[in-house]
Amino acid sequence: MDSIKINNLEVFGHHGVFEEETKLGQKFVVSAELFMDLRQAGLSDDLTMSVHYGEVCRAINDFMKEKNYYLIEAAAEDMAKMLLIRFDKLSGLKLEIKKPWAPIGLHLEEVSVNIERGWHDVYLGLGSNMGDRKANIENALLRMEDDDDIKVCEVSRLINSKPYGYTDQDDFLNGAAHIKTLYTPSELLRCVNQIEALAGRTRDIKWGPRTLDIDILFYDNMTIDTENLTVPHADMKNRDFVLKPLNEIAPWLRHPVYNMTVSEMLNELSLVTTA
Ligand code: ADP
Ligand code: MG
Repeated sequence: MDSIKINNLEVFGHHGVFEEETKLGQKFVVSAELFMDLRQAGLSDDLTMSVHYGEVCRAINDFMKEKNYYLIEAAAEDMAKMLLIRFDKLSGLKLEIKKPWAPIGLHLEEVSVNIERGWHDVYLGLGSNMGDRKANIENALLRMEDDDDIKVCEVSRLINSKPYGYTDQDDFLNGAAHIKTLYTPSELLRCVNQIEALAGRTRDIKWGPRTLDIDILFYDNMTIDTENLTVPHADMKNRDFVLKPLNEIAPWLRHPVYNMTVSEMLNELSLVTTA
């Protein structure tokens, strides 16, 4: 991936756990590697196709001056988020914050924190079969749009579908959405569970009626198997109410385990169900 590197930008700030650090302040040295596609900027020689590194340096300088953190870990975390949101061409970045004058009573050249953060491509499945189904799904998308850590990029049309598993319940409305997020997979699961809870979701019957169901279908190209999170979402291959809306926005998306695209999985499923 192309990048722009900022090396050893010197800034002054009042971060640290010791009183003298927050009172007197000290020097910090920040380096950043900004990831983005530079091809268009290179071909057009046009700054608006790139990220202005002078503005990035000023943003880093102001951030370090205005905020106060005990930990440079926290400064780096918040700074990464601020830069990724403010400079929307960035797909990710590496940040290093060095503290050359760390007051530990021993000589060291410098101590530093290094992090890498970025936007992750996620596809969500959305479903509802209680109350105002359309409003439940639309409100969930609005909540995500209001969240700084999520950008809603594309939403499929909503389709009507027959209940799956536990069939003695009303029809569902289902859709899929492409979002970009700064959340890790487990943070995103917590976030969508909160949005489900705000819609009045309760978990009484497995696969039972629900005001809102949000499933993480894909998270980048990752495969995750933990106690409460399986990605890609298990069983999507057998669920046309998941594959149909997803096929509308990302037919080319390839399942990292089955090595099939969404469109291929949907075709295979229709062959099975019509056989
Ligand atoms: P379902 O969506 O299969 O009808 P629920 O919405 O009731 O079931 O979710 C049950 C549990 O499934 C959640 O508490 C969550 O921990 C777990 N889960 C595992 N993988 C995922 C995923 N990819 N997306 C959402 N939930 C998941
Ligand atoms: Mg679910």
